[in-house]
Amino acid sequence: MSQKLAVVAGGGGFIGGHLARNLMEQGYKVRSVDIKPFDRWYQVHDDAENMQLDLMELDNCRKAYAGADRIYQLAADMGGMGFIENNKCLCMLSVLINTHSLMVAKEVGVERFFYSSSACVYNADKQKSEDVVPLVEADAYPAMPEDGYGWEKLFSERMCRHFREDFDVPTRVARFHNVYGPFGTWDGGREKAPAAITRKIINCKLTGDHNIEVWGDGKQTRSFMYIDDCVKGINMITDSDDVLEPINLGSDELTTINGLVDMMAEIAGIDVTKHHNLDAPKGVNGRNSDNDLIKKYLNWAPAIPLRVGMEKTYDWIHEQMTADVDSTVFTS
Ligand code: NAD
Repeated sequence: MSQKLAVVAGGGGFIGGHLARNLMEQGYKVRSVDIKPFDRWYQVHDDAENMQLDLMELDNCRKAYAGADRIYQLAADMGGMGFIENNKCLCMLSVLINTHSLMVAKEVGVERFFYSSSACVYNADKQKSEDVVPLVEADAYPAMPEDGYGWEKLFSERMCRHFREDFDVPTRVARFHNVYGPFGTWDGGREKAPAAITRKIINCKLTGDHNIEVWGDGKQTRSFMYIDDCVKGINMITDSDDVLEPINLGSDELTTINGLVDMMAEIAGIDVTKHHNLDAPKGVNGRNSDNDLIKKYLNWAPAIPLRVGMEKTYDWIHEQMTADVDSTVFTS
């Protein structure tokens, strides 16, 4: 039987790099595509076909998806709160990637099109209190998502729905809640809270200066999903014949940002003094994933404990920060 071709758009990124490796382990032939030059990919898999293309261009989508059985669309211009609050237009331009990717998926006739949406689609009014009620899928409407990034994700979700309904493109959509782990962004301005906090804690340990800046008052509540759970969930959702509408893919282990800082300090074996920067971007006050729907459909939900995943993330970021050479690119 000939191998099926899975194309990972955004394969040079954090989640795409992990997913590409996992798909090869499952027996797929993998093509990873990303706009970044190869020396900036988090993982370059030698046994995959790797292409550098700007997927905002329709012709490039045709090159990227030629012969594809499955498309995993993870490419987006994105980052943590510091990036998305200050780059709304760049975030919205990712709509070109999604539009052209869906148009070509229809031309090619793929057996599955997976789209990576986000918890940032949820109505901001439901996330005003730190004392959160976990978000159920229906909470995305009436729409008042995160400005810029969240609107683009919500619009692209709708396109996935209508390409499925009108053109029979078998789309599947997951709403990721904060994903973290090794081989992801940990500095430079696009990093998310778990990586940023880990870097700051390691910096405290390495320099001996145990003062740490925390964005906001630190009372914001969040859940964080380890990358292995994310990849497993993408596979299950994509394979499912039942999960047709967008579904939460996130941990429901809630923590405060202050709690995460304390956890990381404990992992590092140091005491730190927190300095809260109330002017820094901090996002919504509270957010958690309601996992009833994913449990109902897939009899599974992300379960890797935060402490377990953060210990692995700490070790990897520590390696990066103490390496002699620029080692942001790894060959698996
Ligand atoms: P990432 O930034 O590491 O990966 C995205 C990749 O897309 C990058 O490598 C980037 O170079 C590439 N890209 C951007 N514009 C492109 C273009 N025009 N053509 C081709 N490639 C392009 O991010 P990630 O954390 O791996 O996220 C993957 C997807 O999951 C994104 O769509 C993101 O919005 C979504 N998501 C992630 C999280 C999270 O916590 N990481 C949460 C919610 C949603």
